[in-house]
Amino acid sequence: MESKRRDSDTFPTYVSFNLETNQVGALSTGFLPPQYSVFDLNAAQALTGMTLDQKASELIEERWRVLQGLREMNRGRMQEFGRDIEAFEKFSNTAKSLLTDPRWPAALRAISEASGVHIVMGAGWYREHVYPPEIATTSTTALADSLVHELVDGVGTTGVRAGFIGEIGTGRGAITPAEERVFRAAARAHRATGAPIMTHTTHFGELALEQLDLLTEEGVATTSVIVSHLGDRPGIASVLPIAERGAWLGIDNLGFEASYASLEARADNVAALWEAGHGDRILLASDICRTDQLVTHGGAGYAGVLTRFVPLLHERHLGDDQVRTMLVDNPGRAFGYPARP
Ligand SMILES: [Zn+2]
Repeated sequence: MESKRRDSDTFPTYVSFNLETNQVGALSTGFLPPQYSVFDLNAAQALTGMTLDQKASELIEERWRVLQGLREMNRGRMQEFGRDIEAFEKFSNTAKSLLTDPRWPAALRAISEASGVHIVMGAGWYREHVYPPEIATTSTTALADSLVHELVDGVGTTGVRAGFIGEIGTGRGAITPAEERVFRAAARAHRATGAPIMTHTTHFGELALEQLDLLTEEGVATTSVIVSHLGDRPGIASVLPIAERGAWLGIDNLGFEASYASLEARADNVAALWEAGHGDRILLASDICRTDQLVTHGGAGYAGVLTRFVPLLHERHLGDDQVRTMLVDNPGRAFGYPARP
């Protein structure tokens, strides 16, 4: 790799980048140390102001894929590839250690106490491409035990307990063996604790039914499963089978607008789900995970569901009672579970 390097090459490029939307900011300033976050910009400005056109996006994606592939192939002998790739490795590890830093639960507690907002923390592993290496060498039962520890005793030594399992996710096409083990571990932790499971689907519900099959096989009632990232496709045909299985429906990409279905189309889908009798399964959320979604960075922020989406529901003749069902009662039922002795 090093021998093929050109003088003009600049990789690894330390850009926080959402590979699914080609937008900047998935892990941006304030999350990673400054030296790893070149862009601290509103995504729209970054895309127009820095000639980060489609071609450039594809190049960055390609570099990331190459580096990720090398990392997989050469785990343990990164030094041979020079200091740049070592730096990439360090970056990757920094991101992961931040995500598992026990100070995060402590910060969530401090934010909740200061704001008066209830925060429910998740436990679990998101998707295979960001699994920590230990997943590959840990038994399903041991993975389940570590989830149970975080749900019952707390994360690390903070005493802050997670309140649900998730997001645990799948990619496109098929559930991978590693993802299957994480799902089975989640199911076993659910059976030990009663904590609900929130799944991530890629591409708006793909593999949702396979996820439910897997969890059902492990003895999880679908009423304890929240399936995320639904409602962005035209119409509700792909959501109905999930609703009919009794799972919770996360209409939860509402904080994403550019390159997603219009909020109006998503409001139509919510109205159609009510029409089909599934209003009591709907959860609304914004999936905020980028700085450009925050009010301080020009986004609609955490209130976006209320300020931008609820008015569209009213226009479609959903009343205050129905909105309250989706925003108050449903989350209470989805995330509530009886305390175990
Ligand atoms: Zn997700």
